[in-house]
Amino acid sequence: MPAVTVWLRGDHLVRHRGPLARRPDEPLLLIEAESFARKLPYHPHKLTLVFTAMRQFRDAVRESGRSVHYRQVETFAEGLTAHFEAHPDDHLVTTEPQADGARERIEGLVGDAGGTVDFVPDERFLCSPDQFDEWAGDGRYRHEDFYRFMRRETGYLMTDGDPVGGEWNYDDQNRETPPEGWEPADPPTFEYDETTEETAAWVQETFAGSYDDRPYGGDWADPEAFRWPVTRRQAVRALGHFISHRLADFGPYQDAMRGEEWAMSHSLLSTSLNLGLLLPEEVIERAIGAYEDGTAPLNSVEGFVRQVLGWREFLRHVYRREMPELATANQLDADEQLPELYWTGDTDMACLSDVVEGVRRRGYSHHIERLMILANFGLVYGVEPAQLNRWFHAGYVDAAHWVTTPNVVEMGLYGAGVFATKPYASSANYVDKMSDYCSGCPYYKTKTTGEGACPFNALYWDFLDRNEASLRSNHRMGLMYSHVDNKDEEEWDAIRERAEAIRTMASDGEL
Ligand SMILES: Cc1cc2nc3c(=O)[nH]c(=O)nc-3n(C[C@H](O)[C@H](O)[C@H](O)COP(=O)(O)OP(=O)(O)OC[C@H]3O[C@@H](n4cnc5c(N)ncnc54)[C@H](O)[C@@H]3O)c2cc1C
Ligand code: SF4
Repeated sequence: MPAVTVWLRGDHLVRHRGPLARRPDEPLLLIEAESFARKLPYHPHKLTLVFTAMRQFRDAVRESGRSVHYRQVETFAEGLTAHFEAHPDDHLVTTEPQADGARERIEGLVGDAGGTVDFVPDERFLCSPDQFDEWAGDGRYRHEDFYRFMRRETGYLMTDGDPVGGEWNYDDQNRETPPEGWEPADPPTFEYDETTEETAAWVQETFAGSYDDRPYGGDWADPEAFRWPVTRRQAVRALGHFISHRLADFGPYQDAMRGEEWAMSHSLLSTSLNLGLLLPEEVIERAIGAYEDGTAPLNSVEGFVRQVLGWREFLRHVYRREMPELATANQLDADEQLPELYWTGDTDMACLSDVVEGVRRRGYSHHIERLMILANFGLVYGVEPAQLNRWFHAGYVDAAHWVTTPNVVEMGLYGAGVFATKPYASSANYVDKMSDYCSGCPYYKTKTTGEGACPFNALYWDFLDRNEASLRSNHRMGLMYSHVDNKDEEEWDAIRERAEAIRTMASDGEL
């Protein structure tokens, strides 16, 4: 019988479940590969997060008495070779990666290093591949159906087979904007130890100068102080803070944007969930507990549960099933280059400049800013989906290919049409309704053409015009195309001219 070592990759830092819990006596292998961090010009906070969380995990597991092989190397191949040279009879057990291709790559790497590997289920999710495939069959899948399926399967927010409160979904109560004077609770802060401080400094020294493949050079500005949980203990505290201070307001203001409030009442838990520091069932159960003890209303709790039990699980399987095609899907043939302003934040557009600046400073923006500002602009501008995906992947602390790709390429840019039933395209109207950006913006939100007109407006109409052949027959686009039909040729000439001028301004860095 070969000896077994549990190999956990840096985003599977789960101790109390999964292979580490099932094999209490076997050693743990962690490989810290620098080449991974050079694949893209990653935000320094993302690198600090991943490397620190791995090092903290190593220390915590060692403290619990288990032996840990921690390899700091250039590539995974190098780390695996070193491992099998030191332990030639070893057999690795690791968690199933998200995409089939990744599993084959891992098997290849381990085989080349002279070893063998087995895969076990990924404990960071509630719905297994078999369960999803049986539910989905070969047909198209809709999120709402999947979400209801998962509510029934898990029993979360269910009573006697029916949804608690009588409705599956309280979205109609979750589109409010906060009143004047509303202030969300401050996000939690954490005290960091020497390991974290040293890793942050090492990241700065090691990677800041290595962003040669960035198209426009420069750095991620001056990020604010690093702020994300890096240990299980910190992640549990972050969860407790959200449940006690922010969950109640999460629902109603879920879609709202305020320039001064980068976090609103969002949970800020995606990094911990994606690294395995928190598991989905515990965050869902804490939220439901808050409803049951009367400290959070049902619309907030259901809204939050839908994100974690519904969207997060759903997109993970969409990715698994639709890769590798999804990464390069581009059904609208969008072929514009990503404008430089995504890297620099240098634009007079108040909404876009504020959100990009937030990403530069924190590696984060909340969902509606990602969807309705950053992706919406890319969509109506006509950015090639893979380019925007790469930018999101590099810039966000919570980015991982399995979650960024379906969100950006499909939900944001309508690249494949595998689950999105229409593009999320909108003009300044939406931004104005859901945010306070337009009142402080030099562009005129109500103007579509001519100098000073809000760029979202002409680009929105131009988008509908350019993509008419693909979109007009979509019954969900009927209302939009009835407005298209109300415009005369003179208006269309002015719209096309303005859209062209905006693209020129954006590519000249003058938008
Ligand atoms: C264009 C675009 C890019 C995105 N890129 C990422 C990404 O790289 N990594 C990532 O984790 N999420 C991504 N999302 C999903 C979502 O925006 C983030 O999970 C969320 O904003 C993280 O902040 P939070 O923890 O405060 O989330 P909350 O708003 O508090 O939501 C709670 C949790 O629900 C889950 N969740 C909510 N929406 C989604 C979703 N659409 N997909 C998957 N999980 C979801 C997350 O785990 C999140 O932590 C993206 C969405 C869009 C539209
Ligand atoms: S006017 Fe247009 S560019 Fe300015 S904040 Fe509003 S939507 Fe954004």
